[in-house]
Amino acid sequence: MASTSVVRMIFSRRLTPFYIAAIYLLLGGLWIFFSDKLLACLVKNSEILGQLQPYKNGFYLILTAGLLYALSNRLLAFQLSESASPASEGKFRQLTENIREVFWLLSLNPTEVIYVSPTYESVWGRTCESLYKQPMSWLEAVHPDDREQVLAAVERRYRSQGDSDQEYRIVQPDGSIRWIRDRAFPVCEQAGQVNRIAGVAEDITNRKHLEAGLRKLNEELDNRVQKQTTELQQATEQLGVEISERQRAEKERDQFFMLSLDMSCIAGFDGYFKQLNPTWEKKLGFTQEELLALPYLELIHPEDHTATVSVVQQLNTGSDIVSFENRYRCKDGSYKWLSWNCTTILNQQSIYAVAQDITERKQAEASLKESNQQIVNILESITDAFLTVDHQWRYTYLNQQAEKLLQKTREELLGRRIWDVFPEAVGTIFFEKYHEAVAKQVSIEFEGFYSPWNCWYEIHAYPSKDGLAIYFTDITQRKQTQAELLKALEKERELNELKSSIVTVVSHEYRTPLTTILSSAELLEHYGNKWTEEKQLLHLRRIQSTVHHLTQLVSDVLFLDKTEAGKLEFNPTLLEVVTFCGELVEEIQLTVGNKHKLVFVSQGECRLAYLDEKLLRQILTNLLSNAIKYSPESGTVDFALLCEPDKVLFRIQDEGIGIPKDDQQRLFESFQRASNVGTIPGTGLGLAIVKKCVGLHNGQITVESEVGVGTTFVVTLPLNIQKAG
Ligand code: ATP
Ligand code: MG
Repeated sequence: MASTSVVRMIFSRRLTPFYIAAIYLLLGGLWIFFSDKLLACLVKNSEILGQLQPYKNGFYLILTAGLLYALSNRLLAFQLSESASPASEGKFRQLTENIREVFWLLSLNPTEVIYVSPTYESVWGRTCESLYKQPMSWLEAVHPDDREQVLAAVERRYRSQGDSDQEYRIVQPDGSIRWIRDRAFPVCEQAGQVNRIAGVAEDITNRKHLEAGLRKLNEELDNRVQKQTTELQQATEQLGVEISERQRAEKERDQFFMLSLDMSCIAGFDGYFKQLNPTWEKKLGFTQEELLALPYLELIHPEDHTATVSVVQQLNTGSDIVSFENRYRCKDGSYKWLSWNCTTILNQQSIYAVAQDITERKQAEASLKESNQQIVNILESITDAFLTVDHQWRYTYLNQQAEKLLQKTREELLGRRIWDVFPEAVGTIFFEKYHEAVAKQVSIEFEGFYSPWNCWYEIHAYPSKDGLAIYFTDITQRKQTQAELLKALEKERELNELKSSIVTVVSHEYRTPLTTILSSAELLEHYGNKWTEEKQLLHLRRIQSTVHHLTQLVSDVLFLDKTEAGKLEFNPTLLEVVTFCGELVEEIQLTVGNKHKLVFVSQGECRLAYLDEKLLRQILTNLLSNAIKYSPESGTVDFALLCEPDKVLFRIQDEGIGIPKDDQQRLFESFQRASNVGTIPGTGLGLAIVKKCVGLHNGQITVESEVGVGTTFVVTLPLNIQKAG
């Protein structure tokens, strides 16, 4: 702006009169000197010249003024162009080339750029040269949207319509956009004719940006103001709504107080009601006036008086009271149970309270208590044990019988956990079943054996909302009876099985010997008189031996039947066991002759043993006869008696056929025989009898055998000397 002012000042009309005055004075002097002569040359008639004399000065003056004005304009034009002195041009260039604005000077007719300052290149992004060559090339950079407006302004300038000032955008070759403020001043020459235009173009992009930013800020500010205004309006509206809401709530509260079915009241610290809702009248039968006139403590049941006074004292110190219960007298003399919730406003010295009539609930509770008592009475009188536990397995109730069976008093159990009192029960059937009942919410019945007490119990467990109710009885006696019954039944069954086996075996075993007897008897009958005495004797012996065998069989069966039926008695006596065994061996050796050799040895100190002689004979006879029967002829049977202080061992060892492993297990059952017996006779009763006899002595029998090698039976019998003594 400053640089523009200087240029304008140099060429402005303000300075022009100065120059004009100077020239005027110079030329005026010359004119005054030469004008008379000039006029005389123009007007030859001296008369007319004389008449013109008075007007000549005015005429000269006008003429001079016109000339001078024309001269001054020419001078000015000269100053601006060719006639400028080198010194002023230097200053001018220095000025225009150092300012930020683009200074330009354009001549019209023809249109050419007389001067443009170098800033043009940085602002337009085009060379000054290009503008000198193409004076209108600056227009090409004008933004297409602004071009129309710029062209119109240029046209106006050309028509000399005065100064112009416009803003437009130009697009630099790199595409960036600059805002330009372009002001133009027509330079007039000779009677106002414009033949040049001077101008200043200023890059106002930053200003525009600032303006845009400012505009944006303004807009934001406007928006914010708008928004806040809206919010304020809304807040105002909300406030209005809240006020009306509050008024409505207050109205509702008043209505609530008046219409509440509960007994609402405000009482003073002086002990009188200040305000009561109509429910009071309905509930107690007194009028409002009567209630307001009475100290409220006078309406309290005598039994509740002390508790109520204490609550009022608490309220007077500012404490809140919740669910306090007391009885209020009605007009008819009856009492109503009320449950109170109260709060105090200390600075008002007022108690705000709401009471609910709980008379019916209290009556229901009382009758429930009564019926509960009846249930308890029943539970106490039943012979079953009954107890309840809560969800944490803590005892909550147990009757007398439960105390008895659990061997603990209520004081010891109530409130304690089952599993803490009876830790041995954790993991037992009781533990599992109770948990199952609770988890599945189903009632459960079961029988359980509690090993620490060696007792059986029958349990019924019922889950409830409070926990678990458990009925139980001691069924140990019943269980024992049942077990004995089962045992007896099993025995009976075994006996029946035995008997049927006996029948089968006997019918089979008897047939062959009886046939033998019959055939020998018939032969004797028909041919006896013809036979030799020797042959007759042979048949008679066969009959005798077979009868003996049958007799043995019958006695075995009878013996076994006796043992199975439990009829066989154990009658121990003090026995000289070594002597007994020696004699028995001799007896058997006589029977078998020298076909087999029996070797008897005894070890240890054993003179007297407390044993049943009959049973011992059965044991040893059977084992020794087996050893002989299942050994080849001339085989040796070793019989050892081993005496120890508290027991006696009988070991019978042979070198016979042995017993296959698979058969060894069942040998001691009736009628069981090994698979390798072949034609060796036998009924399979001997070892069964031995086992029973050993059992009656509380002894043991073991067998070790290998097929083809031999067999060893060992019988161990306790001596029981002390019992005998
Ligand atoms: P019973 O003794 O009634 O006349 P048994 O001898 O066949 O007939 P047990 O004495 O009970 O019956 O013997 C049962 C089976 O045990 C025999 O049939 C036999 O197979 C086997 N046994 C018993 N003792 C011996 C032994 N010392 N050597 C080989 N096998 C034997
Ligand atoms: Mg036998």
